[in-house]
Amino acid sequence: MQFDLRKFLYSGQKPYYNAFQADLSGEDFPGYRVEQPVEAVVEVSTDGETLELSLSVRAVVSGECARCLEPVTQDLDFSRSWTLRSRDLEDPDIELPVTEEGVLDLHQLVFQEVVMEAPFLLLCAEDCPGLCPVCGKKKVAGCTCQSAEDAAPANGLSILKTLLQ
Ligand SMILES: [Zn+2]
Ligand SMILES: [Zn+2]
Repeated sequence: MQFDLRKFLYSGQKPYYNAFQADLSGEDFPGYRVEQPVEAVVEVSTDGETLELSLSVRAVVSGECARCLEPVTQDLDFSRSWTLRSRDLEDPDIELPVTEEGVLDLHQLVFQEVVMEAPFLLLCAEDCPGLCPVCGKKKVAGCTCQSAEDAAPANGLSILKTLLQ
């Protein structure tokens, strides 16, 4: 889906409003999937000199917890807005998926912003203790192993205590 920003800048009278669903299930995301259709709303208005572009997105991200590998889903609900001038549309470094002719790719915009908004690591809980490095079970399931990391500081401490005596 395309929207001609440049044309709108020079001829847009009424604000543009487009509520649509974007199918991102076939896209390649880093470490997660977006299986359900993404709800997106794009609004554009102009005073003839600047463009006000806004995007609202509701998406469900799914994947595995980075620590314990349990399935995780996370809701994303966010908005972004941009103020653009004519020269911004010609800037090759523009952060929007805009062609040289000033045409915005709405699907690509939704995709790009979901990638920006999605967490770098999916976690089932902020404090997920992950898997036990000794037995490989989930720590939250109540494993009682003493991990090597836990044991090392204790030894260090006892040496310190000996030195202080
Ligand atoms: Zn977890
Ligand atoms: Zn264990």
